[in-house]
Amino acid sequence: MIKVLKFGGASIKNAEAIENVFSIINTFKDDDVVIVFSALGKVTNMLEEVVDRYVQKSSTVYEKLQEVKDLHYNLINKMFDQDHDIFNIVNNLFLEIEWVLEEDPNTEISYDYDQIVSVGELLSSNIISAFLKLNNFENQLIDARDIIKTDNQFQNASIDWSLTTEAIKRHIIRFPVITQGFIGCTSENFTTTLGREGSDFTAAIIANILDAGKLIIWKDVDGVLNADPRFFDKTILLDHISFTEAIELAFYGAKVIHPKTIQPLQKKDIPLQVRSFNNLKNNGTLINSDKINNKRPSYIVKENQVLISISDKDLSFIIEEHLSFIFSLLSKYNIRVNLMQNSAVSFSICIDNEKYKVPELLGELTRRFNVFYNDKVMLYTIRHYNDVSIDTLIKGKQILLEQKSRNTVQYIIS
Ligand code: ASP
Ligand code: MG
Repeated sequence: MIKVLKFGGASIKNAEAIENVFSIINTFKDDDVVIVFSALGKVTNMLEEVVDRYVQKSSTVYEKLQEVKDLHYNLINKMFDQDHDIFNIVNNLFLEIEWVLEEDPNTEISYDYDQIVSVGELLSSNIISAFLKLNNFENQLIDARDIIKTDNQFQNASIDWSLTTEAIKRHIIRFPVITQGFIGCTSENFTTTLGREGSDFTAAIIANILDAGKLIIWKDVDGVLNADPRFFDKTILLDHISFTEAIELAFYGAKVIHPKTIQPLQKKDIPLQVRSFNNLKNNGTLINSDKINNKRPSYIVKENQVLISISDKDLSFIIEEHLSFIFSLLSKYNIRVNLMQNSAVSFSICIDNEKYKVPELLGELTRRFNVFYNDKVMLYTIRHYNDVSIDTLIKGKQILLEQKSRNTVQYIIS
């Protein structure tokens, strides 16, 4: 049976962690596996910082890049002999970043972002593939840019399913395969990325096209919990949920699964198991097409939100024409609305505070409307709420906006 395994950054953060991943992979000897890796823990954030400093033309950009280099060289110094070819491979990957840094930033920041940040996944996958080979685990490293074909919406590229299907069928013929999550390639051969945490989505695309029997996403938590342990003391493992419930949880911001991951699996009825790489006794969460009647409240927190309230300069009603203008701006900047609400005189949206997009959006909106905004707000969602769950959640908090539907209640909290 073909199984797709996906390991995120936390599972490969150092040499011991990679050894542990190796022992997990070894238990899948009898399966045809495709193994998808993210960048090493924290590396994507560090590379984003490199991009920021490059765009600001700060001279400290090379210091930040040096931190990324140190992290990788410390690791391969531990794992390989000095004459191993991996040192050349890693040198060359860093050269690719340096070539970008030598030129002036592009007018399209997202393009530079993708060229720099994608290197994180190329580094981790090359290192792990070489390490497995060193330990007699033969594998084929496939560059995700040869199989994941996208449009040129840099930083948030969409998949070209027909080209991707054709490429996956052509390239993935022998197992085990190792590849990168999160990155893809345009038809002009430019590297793209699929959006933060997009590796899960890559794994789901591959599972879909290969008609895999299962996708397993390995996490540093036991599975899908009913609440984010960073914000809530008591959490419960959801051992079995439906695809639909998983889509809802991801949509509202549950960090454990990337929102785009479920649909490709649901289409082919491929079960997803989310389990812990630290706790192999636990089976984690199974997500499939079974109908499960879960009425237990789930709590989701989305941080770093902006609440924007838009009204007419002369306080007249927001009419359809205004809404269509606002939506065309949102679509122009490719901004997803996490919550919206309208009243007689204003229209409010809550969006992620993306640092390159939000200032530009606000700039365009203020030219035509009165605009108020609160940044650094949080969006709290309870699925399957009840009175007790609401009381516990909102106690002592300042609520800026509330929205309730049959299954879900949401609060914007400052
Ligand atoms: N490395 C990327 C990120 O941290 C993609 C991923 O981990 O899924 O966003
Ligand atoms: Mg990650």
